[in-house]
Amino acid sequence: MATAGKVIKCRAAVAWEPNVPLMMEEIEVAPPQEGEIRIKVVATGVCHTDLYHPFEVKDKRGFPTVLGHEGAGVVESVGPGVTDFKPGDKVIPLFLSQCGECKFCKSPNTNLCDCSWSSKYHDIMSDPTTRFTCRGQPILQFMGTSTFSEYTVINQIAVAKIADDAPLDRVCLLSCGISTGYGAAVNTAGVTPGSVCAVFGLGAVGLAAVMGCKNAGASRIFAVDINEKKFEKAKVFGATDFLNPKAYDKPISEVLAELTNGGVDFSLECVGNTEVMRTALESCVKGWGVSVLVGWTDVKDFSAKPIQLISGKTWKGSLFGGFKSKDSVPNLVCNYMNGKIKLDKMSLEQVNDAINLMKTGDCIRCILNISK
Ligand SMILES: [Zn+2]
Ligand SMILES: [Zn+2]
Repeated sequence: MATAGKVIKCRAAVAWEPNVPLMMEEIEVAPPQEGEIRIKVVATGVCHTDLYHPFEVKDKRGFPTVLGHEGAGVVESVGPGVTDFKPGDKVIPLFLSQCGECKFCKSPNTNLCDCSWSSKYHDIMSDPTTRFTCRGQPILQFMGTSTFSEYTVINQIAVAKIADDAPLDRVCLLSCGISTGYGAAVNTAGVTPGSVCAVFGLGAVGLAAVMGCKNAGASRIFAVDINEKKFEKAKVFGATDFLNPKAYDKPISEVLAELTNGGVDFSLECVGNTEVMRTALESCVKGWGVSVLVGWTDVKDFSAKPIQLISGKTWKGSLFGGFKSKDSVPNLVCNYMNGKIKLDKMSLEQVNDAINLMKTGDCIRCILNISK
């Protein structure tokens, strides 16, 4: 490509500081260095974590940054030493890397690669070894990806090559929300055939968790949300029962216990709210119930009565659905192409509009067409 080896000037939505609207800016994107890939971003989803960083954590050290970590695109050029990718390849940037060499990558028990930006810069949510500048200032790369930009540069250990015929404006959702929820059910919870499940929170992650429970053979799936507008969609993904906690004058865990003779076998918290995490645990049946934390949050402690665990329940968490990212994302794309995984589409052009829509909960997922 004519741009290979040169700085690319392009548009990006820059978050200059916490709690202010993103600004569309012209940024400079440096050529990829050793082991890196420069990607033309074609589509990106807007995930709750993109809001969490500027509007909930508000740690100034993580700014200025380009948000976005749920993207898909095409390789523009590769740096020295990159042999598995070439210009034109369709790819998905991964916020969780898979180097294949560290002790975590070598273990079958986890997907938490130690070479990921998050093992060093978890507190600022961004990678400061950035290839972006704007108005003479370095701009951090949020979650190592920064997909709210027309171009981004990512290390090859955090890029998955996907099928040439994959529609990028749909499979972008597999780089965070859908894989996270789906994998939390099928991998982390280990939902079993005939089991009873409850999913708390029916955003994209929650709907994907419902789909995971269904595909794993759950016989009954309770969909729990305070926004009843989301129940119809949850049904499409396989939910069988619907509960609005606001419609009851007792805790929803008690309601679930009554409806299921003691509690559900598996519960998945897909909100990122520590109170809901506790409720999800309390909704599980004693003896073998498993509750999984899926929603991302790290600003508050959570609490629960020890008897909840002494009684034989398991409380666990999952990042990116427990999927080893580079190995799994191409397969997840295939599962979308063969109909096993359903992805919704909703397209919006303006980043700030998408964020407002997510805040009100009136859309499941917004997908931005970056390259138009
Ligand atoms: Zn996300
Ligand atoms: Zn690794």
